[in-house]
Amino acid sequence: LVELSGVDKYFGDLHVLQDIELTVRRGEVLVVIGPSGSGKSTLCRAINRLETIDGGEIRIDGQPLPAEGRQLARLRADVGMVFQAFNLFAHKTVLDNVTLGPRKVRGLSKSDAEEEAFKLLDRVGVKNQAAKFPAQLSGGQQQRVAIARSLAMHPKVMLFDEPTSALDPEMINEVLDVMEQLAKEGMTMIVVTHEMGFARKAADRVVFMADGQIVEEATPEEFFHHPRSDRAKDFLSKIL
Ligand code: ATP
Ligand code: MG
Repeated sequence: LVELSGVDKYFGDLHVLQDIELTVRRGEVLVVIGPSGSGKSTLCRAINRLETIDGGEIRIDGQPLPAEGRQLARLRADVGMVFQAFNLFAHKTVLDNVTLGPRKVRGLSKSDAEEEAFKLLDRVGVKNQAAKFPAQLSGGQQQRVAIARSLAMHPKVMLFDEPTSALDPEMINEVLDVMEQLAKEGMTMIVVTHEMGFARKAADRVVFMADGQIVEEATPEEFFHHPRSDRAKDFLSKIL
């Protein structure tokens, strides 16, 4: 469903993504881990076309990433993204946050969009917060609204870039639980996270990045018990 071949990205002299080869199949959950600065966020941003690439190709469902215009809006709908910071529209209610995209991009009527939004908010456990503004919610609730907002666009794949790392510890699990549920329901997901419990439980495959390269690609079982490279061993010894 998501295919990267020979993807290169530079920031000036810095080669942040080096000849990345990666395929994510439909329904697969890929967890990306690696040290700070290894290029994990840049990888996500490239897949969502928030960042251009300097070489290689990225395809979603067989289609190359569009450069601009209406196709780009379509792509953004196909590729949902949840960031570390809860990027909700601060001056809109929870309900409006979730219905805005479907009304604008998918052309749903207000009532249809709201009906679907309530179902999604219910699914992530924040239905009773629909009339509130983001600042009135906890971080965990905001992040679950952000997930509902992405799902409202009916994405083919969901990208999560450290979705729990800005959360207080007691809120982390409520977000991970929603993500695990999504994974079980068959959503194709690429998840950058330091939550190794989630990786063990939900990942079909783990990719370990360092210095802009994919150093290892393995099942969680293989990766956590028998890391092959010294970089991965070193990384795991620091976080486990
Ligand atoms: P972290 O775990 O800290 O989030 P990361 O693996 O997500 O790290 P990236 O954010 O992808 O790493 O950054 C990879 C490298 O690219 C870093 O060295 C970073 O400083 C650099 N970088 C990222 N964005 C830019 C930018 N817009 N301009 C210049 N350099 C950048
Ligand atoms: Mg990052």
